[in-house]
Amino acid sequence: MSEIYVNSYIKGEWQINETKKIPFLSPIDGSKLSQVTQSDICSKEILAFSRKEGIESLQELNFHQRAKIIKQVAILLDKNKEALYNLSYLTGATLKDSYLDIDGGIGTLRVLASKVRKEMGENYIDIDGETEMLSRNGTFLGKHIFSPLKGVAIHINAFNFPIWGMLEKLSCSLLAGVPTIIKASASTSFLTQACIKIITESNLLPKASIQFIPGNLNNLLDFLNVQDVVSFTGSAETGIKIRANPNLIKKSIKFIAEQDSLNSCILGQDVTPGKLEWDLFLKEVVNEITSKAGQKCTAIRRIFVPEEVLKDTIEALREKLKKIKVGDPHDPKINMGPLVSSSQKNDVLKKVSLLSEETKLMIGSDNFENDKKFKGTAFVEPMLMYCSEPKSSNLVHDIEVFGPAAAIFGYKNYSEVLDLVKRGQGSLVSSIFSADLEAIKILSLGLASFNGRIYINNKDSMHESTGHGSPLPHMKHGGPGRAGNSEELGGIRGIYNYMHRTAIQGSPNALSKITETWIEGSDTLDPKVHPFKKSFNSLKIGDTLISKTKEISMNDISHFAEFTGDKFYAHMDEEAAKQNPFFPGRVAHGYLLVSFAAGLFVDPDPGPVLANTGLRNLSFQKPVSPGDKIKVQLTVKNKKRRTDTYGEVSWFVKLENQEKDTVAKYELLTMNAYSL
Ligand code: NDP
Repeated sequence: MSEIYVNSYIKGEWQINETKKIPFLSPIDGSKLSQVTQSDICSKEILAFSRKEGIESLQELNFHQRAKIIKQVAILLDKNKEALYNLSYLTGATLKDSYLDIDGGIGTLRVLASKVRKEMGENYIDIDGETEMLSRNGTFLGKHIFSPLKGVAIHINAFNFPIWGMLEKLSCSLLAGVPTIIKASASTSFLTQACIKIITESNLLPKASIQFIPGNLNNLLDFLNVQDVVSFTGSAETGIKIRANPNLIKKSIKFIAEQDSLNSCILGQDVTPGKLEWDLFLKEVVNEITSKAGQKCTAIRRIFVPEEVLKDTIEALREKLKKIKVGDPHDPKINMGPLVSSSQKNDVLKKVSLLSEETKLMIGSDNFENDKKFKGTAFVEPMLMYCSEPKSSNLVHDIEVFGPAAAIFGYKNYSEVLDLVKRGQGSLVSSIFSADLEAIKILSLGLASFNGRIYINNKDSMHESTGHGSPLPHMKHGGPGRAGNSEELGGIRGIYNYMHRTAIQGSPNALSKITETWIEGSDTLDPKVHPFKKSFNSLKIGDTLISKTKEISMNDISHFAEFTGDKFYAHMDEEAAKQNPFFPGRVAHGYLLVSFAAGLFVDPDPGPVLANTGLRNLSFQKPVSPGDKIKVQLTVKNKKRRTDTYGEVSWFVKLENQEKDTVAKYELLTMNAYSL
């Protein structure tokens, strides 16, 4: 196979400069694999292109428009993934490994695009939390908003996930509206390049959304500004170097880091050989050691098992690891490919050798070269190291072997295991295999502040559980301390990395205008016709209906109780109700009030309102007694497009009694057709 040239994609064009090249060899057979070229375009020009063209082209779109594009990119990559799988083998990945990288990346785009359309407004800013009452009469309120940074995202990615690593960061920055410069790790950048080519050739992304640098960043970080963000994945050593860049420090430039992590796996004391959880645990440990040849930031590095089952566990793991077939990942019978490069192999073997001071190799060889067919390649065997003195050992809690190797320890009790896990100084993930809920709680809460994620598996979850090592787009990825102390993904939380939160204080009208969401206390609009007769497109934020008044009778309450079967004493028994501190006597059911409210505001005829899809934040604030009169305010709070034909309208609903006291409040959701 001829060498693959990897070029930069800068200022909307592929830059070919063969004078500066870095060569890379195949990890499978040591042949020439790729040449990474370095562009001569200066950093200021690269940044200026993203700033001048990218910010505007992305930020003139709202969240939903950007989400639509990201979904289309996912569909496009899905159609082209066979070509990516073929290249992925050359990084040393088996097809199963590629599913994690390629399908995992595409899935992340899909999930985040969908979550943005469901959870964020069709807007240019996002609202964070509820309105804060800052004044007695409600004329001065507070609201937090997130707005996109007017800057550039610099993504510095690790070699191990050339597609997922790029897409998990890129989806968030682009959804936020921030143009991105992707610095791929040179060794596997040929695969990232193939993905970028598919995306750029489709012209799906707005102008200048992305630039791609597979080689050196040169002095680019020195020219970043206060609105820029650097998001890094890689070794703690590089992380420290980048974090210490004087320009980043001087301007307090946001720095997100996912770096070294000594992730743990704990077998509960309730689990003995032969139990379901025992099998789940063994399977997971072997999978974590061998998938991607252990080159996963989330892979299990430290295994903790009760002392009583330590011997059996080591034996069972040895048996399973013995069966792992190491070889050319193109061969479907192979379970584990090589490491990414011979330098990574040297790094792994050096670290295993350092750890030999404190551990004994139970399976695997740190000298795989004896087998001739692996000479000059990046293959290593899966390795299990046993540490008999976890408390007095230090290196095992400090050195991350970024390959198919993990250390195993015996523990006496949960307090000891908690102390040992914490010596990793902060991890991306720890897993617990146990069916004992008390133990699960003790371990989870004991470990929470030292871990980004806690993964629990047992017989209840085993059929649908996604695995220790899989960061999911819905859940936060990132750990405290040495793991980088940052957060990525976590649904729309990851998008906020590229936005700034501002506290806005002012009148209800000012806040409604800024957020494009009607806030209680703001002016209302007269829709002239019943708002249920107006299409989604013609409804205006603030359109309000004030209903007629309805008197609630004792007969209504008794009838509702008989009809529904809800004969709770507060509605049925005058004396008992009076004893209750909340009620003056028999009162109307809250659900009766909500039902009467619908009767007061609904327009019965077929029209643009297609369905009532739910209520949010329903609160009953004052009891309603027989003889009280209620009326309803129905106001359009917000609108979100959903499909090609209809969108979601959220309505502010308030029920007042004859004294103008609020008796109930909620948000009503309906699906409304765009046109009549
Ligand atoms: P590195 O930290 O060496 O590199 C990560 C990224 O940073 C790469 O894109 C690299 O580019 C880039 N880079 C390196 N130096 C600089 C610099 N001075 N300025 C700007 N960018 C820079 O990690 P690797 O990907 O090579 O992996 C090496 C080790 O990192 C692994 O063996 C493992 O221990 C650890 N690692 C940990 C991860 C985790 O989250 N736990 C994830 C991945 C790696 P280039 O590759 O082109 O030099």
